[in-house]
Amino acid sequence: MIHSMDNTVILPTWLIANTREPPRRNWGARIVQDRVADVAPNDRLCQRYPDDQQWDATDQVLAPGFVNTHTHLYGVLAHGIPLEHAPSGFLPFLAEFWWPRVENRLDQEMICAATDLQCVRLLQSGVTSFYDCLEAPFALPGCLDAQAQVVRRRGLRGILSFEATERVSAANGQLGLKENAEFIAACRTRGDLVSGMMCFHTSFSCSADFIRQAFTLARDLQVPVHMHCAEGTYEPEYVLEHFGKRPMCYYDSLGVAGPDMLASQCVQVDSAEIALMAERRVRMSHMPLSNCEVGGGIAPVPELIAAGVQVGLGSDGYIDDFFEVMRGAFLIHKASHRDSRVMPANLVWYLATEGGARVIGLDSVGRVEPGWQADLQLIDATLPTPLTEHNLYDQLLLYRNQSHVRAAIVAGRTLMRDGQVIGLDVEMLHRRAHAAAARVWAHRCEL
Ligand SMILES: [Zn+2]
Repeated sequence: MIHSMDNTVILPTWLIANTREPPRRNWGARIVQDRVADVAPNDRLCQRYPDDQQWDATDQVLAPGFVNTHTHLYGVLAHGIPLEHAPSGFLPFLAEFWWPRVENRLDQEMICAATDLQCVRLLQSGVTSFYDCLEAPFALPGCLDAQAQVVRRRGLRGILSFEATERVSAANGQLGLKENAEFIAACRTRGDLVSGMMCFHTSFSCSADFIRQAFTLARDLQVPVHMHCAEGTYEPEYVLEHFGKRPMCYYDSLGVAGPDMLASQCVQVDSAEIALMAERRVRMSHMPLSNCEVGGGIAPVPELIAAGVQVGLGSDGYIDDFFEVMRGAFLIHKASHRDSRVMPANLVWYLATEGGARVIGLDSVGRVEPGWQADLQLIDATLPTPLTEHNLYDQLLLYRNQSHVRAAIVAGRTLMRDGQVIGLDVEMLHRRAHAAAARVWAHRCEL
C-alpha cells in the first residue's frame, strides 16, 4: 500500500532546497498533497502547523529526489551475462553483444519483470523520476503500455519511450515510431505520473527520412526527441564518411537540431558541435560510467556546461546506484582535465536533480521549494566527520550510497520509508527477474 501524506512537516537535520545554494541546518519542509507547501526552520514549521503530522528525520538530509535522465530498465537482465570475450569496439559491442544477445531477445514478460525490479532499485537509490529508453524490436507492439502499467503500480514519475530503429527493417522502424506516438497520446489523456517521449536510435541505424519523421511526429505531439549520439568514435566516422559532416552538424543539416532534441552520450563531439548544441539549445544526458564501460571516451561535459548546454545525469542501465553515477561525473572530468576544481559537488548535485528534470522536460521537479513537486528523498547523514554547509554536498556525494537512502517520496506519496520500499515482496521481484534473465541468457549458442 502506497501512503499518501496529508499535511506533513518533515523535520530533518539538513535541507537541500536548491542545489545552487548552500544547504540549511535544521530546516525542513511542509508537504500538502503532491506539492511542497512551505520551507522553513524546523521549529517554525512546528509552530505554524501544529495540527500537521510530524516526520522526525533527525540526522538525515531532506533533498530533492534524483532524476535519472537516461536508463534502460531492461539492462538489468544483462548484468553478468556470460561473454566469451570483451567486444573489440563500440560497434562490436552493439552488433555482437547488445543487439543479438539482449535486445532482440526481449519479450514483454522480460521487460515487465525488469521494470518492476528496477523501479524498486531506483527508489532505493533516491531516484524519484526517470527517463527510460526501451529497445526491444520483437516485443512490439504494446511493450510501452505493458511497461507503463508496472511503473504506475510502483508510483514513480516515469517518462517511457521506445528506441525506434531501422536496423531490423524499415517496417520494424515504423512500428517503433507508432509505438511512441500512440503511447504519448494515450498518456496525455490519462494525465498521471507516466508520460512518453519520441525516440530513435542513432544516425547510423536510421535514415534521414526516418529521423525527420520522428521529429515531425514529436512536434505534433509536443514532446522532445531522444537519440543516442556519438557514444564512441564509430558514429562520427560513419556520418563523416556517408554525409560529409559530423553527427550534430548532420542533424542540423536535417533541420532537427533544436530545443526539442535530447542527445544522450555526446562523448565524441568536437568544439564546433558543442557550440552548435549551445546555439540550438540541444539538451544532453551524461552517462559517465557506461561511457567507461564501452570504451567510448570521456564526454566533454565541463565544456558543454560552460557553453550553456543543459545537462543531466543518467545510469544507462549499467551501474544503478545514483551516488556512483554522481561520483563518476565528479571524478572522471577532474582526472581528464588534471584540475580538481572541475565539476564541483554542488554542480553534480544540480545535474542529478533540477538540471536533469529540465533535460527531460519535467516541470517544477528538482527543488524543495514552495510550489515544487514533492519528489523527495531522505539520506542518512551520520558520517565519521561533522557535516557543515561547506562540506555537505561533497560529503554526501563521496561517502553515501543507495544503502543510506532512508525514504523516497513521489508527488507527495511515500514509496519508501525507513529504508524499505513499502508494500513489496522484493524477493518475489528478484525471482521473477532471475527467471527472465535466464531466458535472455539462454540459447546464446544459436547466435
Ligand atoms: Zn543508453
